[in-house]
Amino acid sequence: MDADYLVVGAGAMGMAFTDALVDHADVRVAVVDRRHSVSGHWLEAYPFVRLHQASAFYGVPSTLLGGGQLQRSGPEEGLQERASQAAICEYYARALDRMVESGKVEFFPNTEYVGGRTVVSQVSGQRYELPERCRIVDAHYLAPSIPAEKPPPFAVDADARVVAVNALARIEHAPRQYVVVGSGKTATDACIWLLSRGVDPDAICWVRPREPWMMNRAVVQPDPVIFLGMVADTMHAAEQASSLDDLFLRLEDAGIMLRIDRTVLPTMAKAPTLATWELDQLRTLQNVVRRGHLAAVGPGRLVFGDGSVAVASDAVVVHCAADGLKYPPLVPVWRPDAITLQPIRSGFPCFGAALVGYVEATRDDDAEKNRLCPPTPYGNSTADWARMNVLGARAATSFSAEPDIAEWASRVPLNPARIPPGHPGSEALDRARERLAAHAPPGLARLAELV
Ligand SMILES: Cc1cc2nc3c(=O)[nH]c(=O)nc-3n(C[C@H](O)[C@H](O)[C@H](O)COP(=O)(O)OP(=O)(O)OC[C@H]3O[C@@H](n4cnc5c(N)ncnc54)[C@H](O)[C@@H]3O)c2cc1C
Repeated sequence: MDADYLVVGAGAMGMAFTDALVDHADVRVAVVDRRHSVSGHWLEAYPFVRLHQASAFYGVPSTLLGGGQLQRSGPEEGLQERASQAAICEYYARALDRMVESGKVEFFPNTEYVGGRTVVSQVSGQRYELPERCRIVDAHYLAPSIPAEKPPPFAVDADARVVAVNALARIEHAPRQYVVVGSGKTATDACIWLLSRGVDPDAICWVRPREPWMMNRAVVQPDPVIFLGMVADTMHAAEQASSLDDLFLRLEDAGIMLRIDRTVLPTMAKAPTLATWELDQLRTLQNVVRRGHLAAVGPGRLVFGDGSVAVASDAVVVHCAADGLKYPPLVPVWRPDAITLQPIRSGFPCFGAALVGYVEATRDDDAEKNRLCPPTPYGNSTADWARMNVLGARAATSFSAEPDIAEWASRVPLNPARIPPGHPGSEALDRARERLAAHAPPGLARLAELV
């Protein structure tokens, strides 16, 4: 296998990196994935999943996912479209075709990187060695776990009915009760989907070990007035906040953060986006079990550390409890043994991976590349969320100071904070930028103190 780069993982991160790299450098790239195609975890996702945020923020830098379409009907009319699983997989298949046609990229599906510059086909058993000059790109450092591929993190009695969220779409006999286990985006999707199929809210029991803060989807849109306005409001709230809880309550008042139950203070801030129509539906679910993590499921009973809860004897327990976001230690993106893809601007993994691809293509010195692109973690607790924003803002200041990177980033829709070239401008945009300039320095300083 002759290549300058071996990209291990053909999910969102590996694809965004490769697309940016080959568009700006004359290099040969081998991309490998254990799975049978490109698209990463989306290949095995539950069929009713959609991106939780605008399609424009996801994918590869050369090609806008979803064509910038707004939703024309339904409860999110006027918001950007959000691609379905099928649309995401189709998009990545086309992106791969484009890369392969460039003559610079070769894709090896069903092929595992086993270390030591060696990859092995899981189908033929053939082994390939990579040359010494080839740089290894770790594009799976933050790969999510998904319920379809990860056993439930609780014991399951032989007579209990426990299914991964994927199986919901194939239910053939309605049980008297559904038990949804998990506090995150997958669990909210499962609840909304059950309600959309006419399940009575009282027939759903939601085991929510932690209460989540989520972001209002209406303010995370690829429109600079909306996005920069939201960041300015966030910084204004941070500036005035007396504690992290106070910050999130201020963000709730500002219409940025949402919580399902206003009587409980959330501790979890992975902060996926949620629409207000979804929030209204989630609030119809009254049977919420907040007793920490589920330890075991038996027929008709859920077992927790401090006792058990009775459920219907034929209840279907829906496993939505895999770690969608990962929190390994932050490592420098460029190290001698590997380029490790991580988000750079907070919370936007595809933009981060694309930026690393662009910087790799246009710079030689690894120390300088690391200075320009320090990594940021994903949010988990409220403190993590604040730290993610502090580090992400510092990183943005660093890479945006380079004129060519700033110019490239303004042309890439994956960059949520861009003002596209030729944008007509408006008084509203001027106001948002002025507010951001005024509130960002004190807001970030306060956020750093709160962390
Ligand atoms: C249901 C769900 C919805 C999400 N929605 C959004 C969203 O709307 N917006 C957003 O920004 N983020 C979203 N995320 C967050 C998620 O982190 C992103 O999709 C992310 O960018 C995942 O891409 P990845 O490339 O890191 O991981 P993956 O898609 O998992 O890709 C990594 C790939 O590496 C391969 N691999 C690993 N080890 C090896 C090896 N040794 N050899 C060969 N191949 C290997 C794996 O097979 C895998 O295909 C969502 C996550 C989930 C689970």
